[in-house]
Amino acid sequence: MKSFIPPQRTLMGPGPSDVSPRVLEALGRPTIGHLDPAFIGMMEEMKGLLQYAFATQNELTFPVSAPGSAGMETCFVNLVEPGDKVIVCQNGVFGGRMKENVERCGATAVMVEDEWGAVVDPQKVEEALKANPDAKIVAFVHAETSTGAQSDAKTLVELAHQHDCLTIVDAVTSLGGSPLKVDEWGIDAIYSGTQKCLSAPPGLSPVSFSERAAEVVKNRKTRVQSWFLDLSLVMGYWGGGGKRAYHHTAPINNLYGLHEALLILHEEGLENAWARHQHHHQALKAGLEALGMSFVVKEGDRLPQLNAVTIPEGVDDAEVRSILLNDYNLEIGAGLGNLAGKVWRIGLMGHASNPANIEYCLKSLDEVLSKMNAPITSGVAVPAAKAVLDGAAQAS
Ligand SMILES: *Cc1c(COP(=O)(O)O)cnc(C)c1O
Repeated sequence: MKSFIPPQRTLMGPGPSDVSPRVLEALGRPTIGHLDPAFIGMMEEMKGLLQYAFATQNELTFPVSAPGSAGMETCFVNLVEPGDKVIVCQNGVFGGRMKENVERCGATAVMVEDEWGAVVDPQKVEEALKANPDAKIVAFVHAETSTGAQSDAKTLVELAHQHDCLTIVDAVTSLGGSPLKVDEWGIDAIYSGTQKCLSAPPGLSPVSFSERAAEVVKNRKTRVQSWFLDLSLVMGYWGGGGKRAYHHTAPINNLYGLHEALLILHEEGLENAWARHQHHHQALKAGLEALGMSFVVKEGDRLPQLNAVTIPEGVDDAEVRSILLNDYNLEIGAGLGNLAGKVWRIGLMGHASNPANIEYCLKSLDEVLSKMNAPITSGVAVPAAKAVLDGAAQAS
């Protein structure tokens, strides 16, 4: 047995994304105690950086010590009580997991379903709200990573509030990659992940709760079913005010990594990060379309950080992805559920959203598909992407 040395990959799938050298370096710093005043100082800063990333002033903003799925569960187990009714919007994989969460809390999920690849239809949500005046919460996924569709969070939150409902929003893939304004849009509870557009390793889930949501948690009639995720207990450690008590041992080094990743986002500026993702999406799109591929999601509804495109006729999905991984050290994502075998999901998330990756991905796809005699146009993808990248360089 010897030490594990992972291969050097380029990560352009649905997450994890490439982690920047600065973050990798931060992860290797000396471990200190989770109640050490120096560590607690870092936690305070982390809270401010997360508030910046979420565009919120919410006091109750911190990273849950587990991946995005645990952030999802934190929102549901704390806000949902047995007997409640929750409107759950599903337009891909992750809405289905929200339903599971609601039901495991002993509540009823009223499903609002849209096709995979479409956005959540506000009109259907409004109909569900009218038909269920006793609903307590509307839950939806802002950026559906399984399809690449971006729903209109602002409008959905407005609708929910008009009907006196709270909102739970999945922002695992949107945070840091596309416009997200928690306070301005009035989002009540939100969760994200670290391995998508924040480009930190997986294993932490930033969450934020509005005052209104925090009140609902405080006034629960029943005990939260999960000990680990019960906010009233977790906040003894993350709550601040200088009186931190042991709840669980924080994943100290992973938090160094997230702190560094958030610092990088802060240095770049949120708006600049959103613009960068959008610009690079346009370049990748030009290249993929020049190859002859088409997008699953209709224009205007697309996520810049997750590009789902149809696989050319007669091409073996798994074979191409395996050649890309083994011969090019390049990871792209497979389709999920209804889209399995039909699409590839190409991520341009966080640190991985850069011109070199765009060119490398297009060049590699062109080579592999050409060798297979796939019905694509060879030699035009990289120039098409470069034209978009250079165009903006000249304009600025
Ligand atoms: C990745 C993802 C999750 C789950 O996050 P994990 O860190 O894998 O638990 C949830 N929702 C969306 C939209 C995601 O993309």
